Amino acid sequence: MSDIIHNEPGILEEQCPNCGSINSHFDDEGKFHLCHVCDHAWSFDSDDPDYDDVDVDEEYLYSLYGVGNNA
Ligand SMILES: [Zn+2]
Repeated sequence: MSDIIHNEPGILEEQCPNCGSINSHFDDEGKFHLCHVCDHAWSFDSDDPDYDDVDVDEEYLYSLYGVGNNA
């Protein structure tokens, strides 16, 4: 079981969210990061190949950023 993390600007992808170590590697086949220290696995939603295909919901964006067409 791995964590799915929302990738944010400035986040350190190599850093284990479990123990904080950056001693990790990215599994290119499984598309997840694996910590060498505690064996914790994690991945980012932006690593999902469908990430760019998600329909943009303007109401959702409005709730996130407070911007919209009917401001
Ligand atoms: Zn770790």
